[in-house]
Amino acid sequence: MSGSSALARTLKNPMRPALLAASKSQGLEAFSQRFAFTRAVVSRFVAGYALEDVLPAVAELLASRFVSVDYLGENVRELEQAKATVQAYLALLDGLGALRDELAGRGLVLADGAVEASIKLSAFGQSLPDGQEIALAGAREVCAKAAEVGALVTVDMEDHTTTEATLSAVRALRRDFPWTGTVLQSYLRRTEADCREFAAPGSRIRLCKGAYQEPGSVAYQEKDEVDASYKRCLAILFGGGGYPMAATHDPAMIVEAGRLANGRADSFEYQMLYGIRADEQARLAAERARVRTYVPYGEQWYGYFVRRLAERPANLVFFLRALFGR
Ligand SMILES: Cc1cc2nc3c(=O)[nH]c(=O)nc-3n(C[C@H](O)[C@H](O)[C@H](O)COP(=O)(O)OP(=O)(O)OC[C@H]3O[C@@H](n4cnc5c(N)ncnc54)[C@H](O)[C@@H]3O)c2cc1C
Repeated sequence: MSGSSALARTLKNPMRPALLAASKSQGLEAFSQRFAFTRAVVSRFVAGYALEDVLPAVAELLASRFVSVDYLGENVRELEQAKATVQAYLALLDGLGALRDELAGRGLVLADGAVEASIKLSAFGQSLPDGQEIALAGAREVCAKAAEVGALVTVDMEDHTTTEATLSAVRALRRDFPWTGTVLQSYLRRTEADCREFAAPGSRIRLCKGAYQEPGSVAYQEKDEVDASYKRCLAILFGGGGYPMAATHDPAMIVEAGRLANGRADSFEYQMLYGIRADEQARLAAERARVRTYVPYGEQWYGYFVRRLAERPANLVFFLRALFGR
């Protein structure tokens, strides 16, 4: 990162570097998990702590849109934790399959692709010794279960040290489960090339800006550069015959995706996070656009939650107000 661009970014959101560093702190995670008040605040962004909490929220969303459910967790350090994550996803997918049947019984027949699970390979053990094979085996199990219950899977993208390994896992998964989606991040300098590779018929690509603290050697540092890259990447994805998934809350990117889709509402989807710009999600859905809400749940909310605080100073103010009871 150049000194001037780091300064420009820090001036726009002075807490961002500290918050993104804090998002990786195990000590702070253990500390914040102890307090009941954090739960009240966290619930703005996290739909529940257990499967039985999240399914009613998912059912409500499915009345007007698609969902992608994320069982929170990342960077597991023990094989047992990785196995537990896989088991949690299998239970989640069984729950989503049962929910789908229950909704059909009530007259709400879901469209193909309405239900998806989002997975992080670091939660499946990617950073353990032999982690790539372990994570891939876990992801395969989850994809097989998804196929059984009529759901989809998208592999989230984490920090740039894992990009190549994650894309290579996705290429392997797509051989058996061609509908497996992946995420590309417009802040990475490599992403236009990745869009060209993946923008082929049948591919499902979620384009986001990227949520991690990355060095200037691999990532654009200025918002304008990240936004310009997002637009170039969107154009490649829309031109490539695949199924673009525009994951953004940014009004300018939402307009650009709509422009490129040129009236073909079923050829792409908008994606936004649970609890963020809920009005805009409802507006787009009411206009018959495909909107997918990314719904995180689980006890391991810390890293996800702190990244949301880092994205927007107003979220941090909201958190601090709740903390001090105002
Ligand atoms: C469905 C989905 C999946 C994602 N998956 C990944 C992933 O796999 N890997 C990854 O690195 N990142 C992921 N992200 C996060 C993404 O990379 C960005 O960090 C995040 O979406 C903020 O970028 P933005 O495009 O919304 O635009 P920004 O430029 O950050 O924001 C534009 C505007 O959106 C609104 N907004 C943005 N963020 C917030 C917020 N937290 N709270 C309230 N308002 C907000 C504000 O009005 C803001 O002015 C995902 C995002 C979405 C929506």
